[in-house]
Amino acid sequence: MRNLAIDAERLWGEIMETAAIGGTAKGGICRLTLTELDKQVRDWFKARAETLGCRVTVDDMGAMFARREGSADVPPIAFGSHLDTQPTGGKFDGVLGVLAALEALRTLVEAGYETYAPIEVVNWTNEEGSRFAPAMVASGVFSKALEKSAVQAQQDRDGVTFAAALDAIGYRGTQACGEHPLSAFFELHIEQGPILEAEGKDIGVVTGVQAMRWYEATLTGQDAHTGATPMHLRKNALVGAARMIEAVDRIGRKYAPGVATVGLIENRPNSRNVVPGSVFFTVDLRHPDDDVLGEMQEEFYDVLPVISGDLRLEFEGKTIWEQPAVQFDPDCIAAVRRAAEVSGYSARDIVSGAGHDAAYVSRVAPSAMIFVPCRDGISHNEAEFSSKEQCAKGAQVLLQAVLDYDRQLAERAGRVTNLDPR
Ligand SMILES: [Zn+2]
Repeated sequence: MRNLAIDAERLWGEIMETAAIGGTAKGGICRLTLTELDKQVRDWFKARAETLGCRVTVDDMGAMFARREGSADVPPIAFGSHLDTQPTGGKFDGVLGVLAALEALRTLVEAGYETYAPIEVVNWTNEEGSRFAPAMVASGVFSKALEKSAVQAQQDRDGVTFAAALDAIGYRGTQACGEHPLSAFFELHIEQGPILEAEGKDIGVVTGVQAMRWYEATLTGQDAHTGATPMHLRKNALVGAARMIEAVDRIGRKYAPGVATVGLIENRPNSRNVVPGSVFFTVDLRHPDDDVLGEMQEEFYDVLPVISGDLRLEFEGKTIWEQPAVQFDPDCIAAVRRAAEVSGYSARDIVSGAGHDAAYVSRVAPSAMIFVPCRDGISHNEAEFSSKEQCAKGAQVLLQAVLDYDRQLAERAGRVTNLDPR
């Protein structure tokens, strides 16, 4: 196949151009979903896609699909991510995935390369979940994991519903979300963690998203005077929490690459001369394998009564949220791996520690993701940074992966592939 190359400068230029829409003084972006700024970047995206000859459709969750026809009448291969950001977001989270797909599509148009399947660039609505909870709602409804009516009724802090916000910017489309079959979906994203940078790798071949479970626990002892209560007669809930935090950390280390975190604690009454009588804390356990995550949970539940028994504390704990592990599609993963290889980039397999639109979409279409490194692993932060070269490598692998998958589709259908577009 002729080696199609994306234009690194042009991609970088568009990342910087759209970063001005909601740009912050510290170099980040504040572009919350379904705001006037979100409308501006959507309008920009639509106009650019139409310049390339694409037809842009919008579904009733506001998800945008910019389509270039292929030679066959089959569901499109889609690629993209999200254009909304956190309130103090960076320039790359989500944005890179959409703009790299746009650049890849532009490369195909300019080369006159005809694909077998139609190709679509997607912008998923409200990936961040910052203005409206939860996160990843358009891809969630698209994959039937979330209920549309519940998501649309969700209010922001000012009491504006998701549906009203969608109407206000004119992006409630006519197509029912989810009634849009895809042959496959590919998402390029910054890693949002430190692994690729630490190992000096260009590309992460994302094989799945790890399973996650969240818990809440309360340890109860007895408030008592710090001066008048001898050590052996205390029921100190904070000491119990300290031992739990230590135990949770040990569980994470024992089950690596699993991770385990106590991220929030509330000590009561939190007074310098009162032995703490009650502590509430949260636990976040994650592992790529559902069964191993189950073992981590068991160990956590085993250690809780031991610690509370030793300290004569009562305990209560419950699971408040869980998400099973996602394994991406083997053919899509293979396409990404080959794409990195033919491009001459160093790569390693990696499991995503964070959730992404592709995790939901993988329920209804073969999917995979590509990661590129970001400086110091920092994301959801105005300082978030990936270099021009890193972004370009990601976009190049995204393009090659889609073309690879397109050839797989054509071959399965017994069609001669487009080896030379001229
Ligand atoms: Zn993102």
